[in-house]
Amino acid sequence: MMFDMYTHFPCGRVRIVMESALTARDRVGVQDFVLLEKYNSEAALIENLRRRFGENLIYTYIGSVLVSVNPYKELEMYSKQQMERYRGVSFYEISPHIYALSDNTYRAMRTERKDQCIMISGESGAGKTEASKKILLYYTVTCPINEHMATLGDRLLQSNPVLEAFGNAKTFRNDNSSRFGKYMDVQFDFRGAPVGGHILNYLLEKSRVVHQNHGERNFHIFYQLLDGGDDDLLTTLALERNPQSYNYLVKVCVCVCVCVCVCVCGINRGIICNSLVQGNCPRLSSVSDKNNWKVVMKALSVIGFTEEEVQKLLDIIASVLHLGNTQFGEGEEGETYITTETQITHLAKMISPLNFEQAMSARDALAKAVYGRTFTWLVEKINQSLALKEEIYHSGKGCTVIGLLDIYGFEVLQHNSFEQFCINYCNEKLQQLFIELTLRSEQEEYETEGIAWETVQYIDNKIICDLIEEKHKGIISILDEECLRPGETCDVSFLEKLEDTLGGHPHFVTHKLANGKTRRVMSREEFRLLHYAGEVNYNVNGFLDKNNDLLNRNLKEVMCQSDNQILCHCFRREEVIHQKRPEMAATQFKNSLMKLMEILMSKEPSYVRCIKPNDAKQPGRFDEVLVRHQVKYLGLMENLRVRRAGFAYRRCFEAFLQRYKPLCPETWPNWHGRLADGVSTLVNHLGYKAEEYKLGRSKIFIRFPKTLFSTEDALQA
Ligand code: ATP
Ligand code: MG
Repeated sequence: MMFDMYTHFPCGRVRIVMESALTARDRVGVQDFVLLEKYNSEAALIENLRRRFGENLIYTYIGSVLVSVNPYKELEMYSKQQMERYRGVSFYEISPHIYALSDNTYRAMRTERKDQCIMISGESGAGKTEASKKILLYYTVTCPINEHMATLGDRLLQSNPVLEAFGNAKTFRNDNSSRFGKYMDVQFDFRGAPVGGHILNYLLEKSRVVHQNHGERNFHIFYQLLDGGDDDLLTTLALERNPQSYNYLVKVCVCVCVCVCVCVCGINRGIICNSLVQGNCPRLSSVSDKNNWKVVMKALSVIGFTEEEVQKLLDIIASVLHLGNTQFGEGEEGETYITTETQITHLAKMISPLNFEQAMSARDALAKAVYGRTFTWLVEKINQSLALKEEIYHSGKGCTVIGLLDIYGFEVLQHNSFEQFCINYCNEKLQQLFIELTLRSEQEEYETEGIAWETVQYIDNKIICDLIEEKHKGIISILDEECLRPGETCDVSFLEKLEDTLGGHPHFVTHKLANGKTRRVMSREEFRLLHYAGEVNYNVNGFLDKNNDLLNRNLKEVMCQSDNQILCHCFRREEVIHQKRPEMAATQFKNSLMKLMEILMSKEPSYVRCIKPNDAKQPGRFDEVLVRHQVKYLGLMENLRVRRAGFAYRRCFEAFLQRYKPLCPETWPNWHGRLADGVSTLVNHLGYKAEEYKLGRSKIFIRFPKTLFSTEDALQA
């Protein structure tokens, strides 16, 4: 979306804001990076961010892109009065704000009758989810209400605590980290009232159900239930209040220990404990599980979950905990037995001819599948509650949509696995979209208008997207093939296949050098991708299993027969009968991303780029090195270069002439010739220098803001 500053608002006010931003720049920096003198210097951009951050000015623009720095403290800028200040007021009239972007997007949707989307990106803890909640709140507070959908606003808002309880967790980087990607459509009727919503969820990090890194937690809902659920509820679910009682929450047992004990059936068996070191982080200082439990229960009821549904949902959550505590004993002939009686009474029978390792992994696979599918059911239920009513849909007046995308940012951890691979692939696609929509459309508009384009160097990441997703030769295809290939396949054979097919690709590296020697700094289990945002080493361990995401057929059958209607809904009989292999995880993800790209492409985009100022989650700390990385990952310099390399502002001849014709006797009161000639006559009269502007086929392009300001001044005088 190209920002056209004179379309919506009176320029007098624009001038004042611009001036204040310029005159106060030593202290507070400029509110639009486009106004920076050294616009192509990364250091200047970071310095401007730092100054503003120091003054609690966390928002700054690059043209129409909003850059936001997480303050890690509550700022008094989100009140209802503040919302009112931003209503109907455009970008440069007032200091940058998430409300300004929300309002501009809303007005663009209303006036142009075109669907919009707001893409929020940034790394974990940068403030994406907070930003998306603020946007949603802005719409539910400031938009008119449709009498048929009076409670929709509440339901839209209440979907957040529910999805956060089941889909967010404390991680090393964020106490409330979204472990799934989310795209939410808000539908508006012809009067601009919200009338419906729809959520798409992406790649929940299911592995967290059975394992968390030290210092991290499982999904919030487990702790909320144990801390907030009343005694009766916990008794019914046979749960103990202490999270330490549950392997999937805080079991600490550092080695595989085999001990001999007399089991229920009186036979000596080796009992092997769970060897995982789990999160061991039951409480969070920044989160009250007890309070949040109440919030979530209330939210479920507002959204329209029945008491029975809530009960069934909690049964499932409890079952997952019991499942995690199920222990196996190894028989003399290598067969496995469940040794924990209590759990058996709460779980369907799971005795099958598996060896110990297989039994453990089948148990964990079941827990992940149950949780993952329940999460999908939850989203479906929320969608039913938010669904547009038939009569509104068929009213013929048509709805328009604002989509909100809150999805994981580029991720580089010490140990990067399948999940990071998918997340970073997603970011490559979003970057490609950004390039496509912003950079290319800028260039194309100049070309359409017949204006010479000064080429801007930017990284076109298509080559990396192809490397990952191309049919037959991309990494995902090779991974799928390796999963399906009969015979002995493993993560290392997958890596070898990658080397055979992709060795020599400029963005793909392994320990093997072209001359047959070994690159010492890389492990033999890794491949490196040179992403647009930087290099990432991926360890292939677990890639095949995670991509296969298989669940034992017997277990599926058991789930189909469950009394719990939610589980029956999640595990369909057809799946067992037809034994149709579902798509592999990476391909599923790729396909869902393709669909997402189509959705986003069909809309007018706006961007929020979130930045995390420090790793300590503390207010007032601005770590320049950390910020510099993010400026790079977010492609901010590229963005800025494009905005400033060409012309900052543009306007149709007709509108330009209409506004400024009083300034020239030859165009006033009416110009009867060609519009282009009229504009030409006008700017000649105003004394525009050749380097300050260009005339295209239908628009005038103005290079510097100051040219426009002086013309406005003349008009106001
Ligand atoms: P993830 O990718 O892990 O989900 P995220 O980008 O969604 O991360 P948030 O959960 O939105 O990050 O933000 C992390 C924390 O930072 C919040 O819980 C909150 O404490 C703080 N925070 C973010 N934005 C703001 C804000 N505008 N004002 C005050 N605090 C904020
Ligand atoms: Mg989040």
